[in-house]
Amino acid sequence: MAESTAGVLAQLREVLGESGVRDTPDDNLPDIILKPETTEQVSQVLKICSAAQQALVPLGGKTGLANGHFQTGSEFGLSLERMNAIEEIDPHNRTMTVQAGCILQVATEAAEEQGLLLPLDLGARGSATVGGNVATNAGGNMVIRYGMTRDMVLGLEVVLADGTVVTNLNKLLKNNTGYDLRQWFIGAEGTLGVITRVVFRLRPQPKSQNTALLAVDKFADVAALLHRLDSQTAGTLSAFEVMWPEFYEFVTREEGMHKAPLPHGSAHYVLVETQGSEPEADAERFENVLSDAMEAGLIADAVLTHSQAERNALWEIRDDVLGFFSLGPIVPFDISVTIDQMEPFVEDIRSAAARLDDSICVFFGHLGDSNLHVILGNREPANFDYEAIQELLYGTVEKYQGSVSAEHGIGLSKRDQLHRSRSDAELQLMVGLKQMLDPQNILNPNKIFTAAQIASA
Ligand code: ZN
Repeated sequence: MAESTAGVLAQLREVLGESGVRDTPDDNLPDIILKPETTEQVSQVLKICSAAQQALVPLGGKTGLANGHFQTGSEFGLSLERMNAIEEIDPHNRTMTVQAGCILQVATEAAEEQGLLLPLDLGARGSATVGGNVATNAGGNMVIRYGMTRDMVLGLEVVLADGTVVTNLNKLLKNNTGYDLRQWFIGAEGTLGVITRVVFRLRPQPKSQNTALLAVDKFADVAALLHRLDSQTAGTLSAFEVMWPEFYEFVTREEGMHKAPLPHGSAHYVLVETQGSEPEADAERFENVLSDAMEAGLIADAVLTHSQAERNALWEIRDDVLGFFSLGPIVPFDISVTIDQMEPFVEDIRSAAARLDDSICVFFGHLGDSNLHVILGNREPANFDYEAIQELLYGTVEKYQGSVSAEHGIGLSKRDQLHRSRSDAELQLMVGLKQMLDPQNILNPNKIFTAAQIASA
C-alpha cells in the first residue's frame, strides 16, 4: 500500500529542506519538483520514493524533443539544477568531471578556457544540462567527427531506484574490466537510474575552421562527395549537412531572412566544414579538395566563407527550422537510414506525400551521420492527419530497416514506434534490464515502454 502523498512530501522536506521541494504547476511538467543539492540527497529521495512507490521524472533542461520529461501520471519531478558544479578540469588527462545539472554551454566554455574542446554542440546548448545530454545520448553538430554523447563519456555516477549510489568516475580511456555499466544508463532517458555526475573526455580545441556551401546536381554525387571529403581532408571533416531544395529555397526565399549564397534550382545543397590544427595548410587543403571535386563533376557550384560572420550566415540557413511551422500543421521527424538507401527512401516519402492534399514535405539532415530530418504536414489544417503521417513515415523507415529515432530518443513521442527498429529479443532484454534495476517502475515510468509492457513481460 503506497503512503499518502502528504506523508511522502513531509519526509522529502526533511531531507531537502523547504527550498528543495517546489510546488509549481506547469503544463505537462510534474507539479511537485524536488531539487536535491548532493548525490547523498538524491539517494535519500530515491529511498523514500522507493519505499512509498512514488514515481519520479528526472529533469534536466527540459529541452528534449521526445517528451521524455513529461508527466504521465502522479510523478514528482527530480530536478538536478542545483547540482551544477564543474568539479574538475584535468588538462593532463584531458577530462572534465561535472555535476549533472550543469548547463551544456557552461561546460563547453569552461573547457574552451583551458584550450580544450567538449565536442558536444546543439541548438539547446544554453538550457540543456549535461545530465540530460547523457541521459538522452544527445547527437548534435559534431557527431561525424567525435561521435554521439556516449562516445565522450568516460565515467558516471548514477543513483539506482532503491537509492544505491554507483560511482565510477573513471578517467581511463582504456578500461576493459567486465560489463560496461556506463552504457546501460547513457541514452536510457532516466528509466534505469538517475545520473548525478559525469566524466567527459576532452579534445584539443581546433585552431582552424573551413566552411563552404556546395550545390550538387544528384544524390549519387552527394554520397560520392561525402566519401571523397572524408578521405581527403585528413580526418578533419566535422560537418556534412545536406538540404534538399524544399528546405533551402524556403529559408532563402525573397521575403525570408536569409540571402541565398547560391542560386536556387539545384537538387541538393551541402554545408561542409573541417576543423583542424594548422590554419594555413588546412585552408589550402580544403580549397584543393573542393576544386578537385568540382573538376570531377561532383560539385556544380560553391561558396567558401572567409569570415566568422559568413560562416555564421551559412549555419543560420541550416539551423532555420522554425519557419516551417508557419506553413501549417507539421510534424518534424528525426530518423536514420543508410546512405545507400537514402535516395529511394526520400523518393518513396516524397511520392506518398504528393498524393496527400496540399502536403508539406521537406528533407534536410546530418548526412555524414546517416541522419535525416523530415518535415511532413499540410498547409490546410483540415487535411492534417497525424496518424496517417506517422504511418507513412515510420512504415517507410521500417521498410528500409532504418531507425525511428536517430538522435532525439524515444521518450513518449516515439514509444509506440520502437518495435519498428528493434527486434522482439532486443525489446525483451531491455524490459528485463528495466525490471531488474527498477522493479517498482518508479523511474520515468511510461517512457520508452508503457507501464503495462513492463508489468506484463
Ligand atoms: Zn539534428
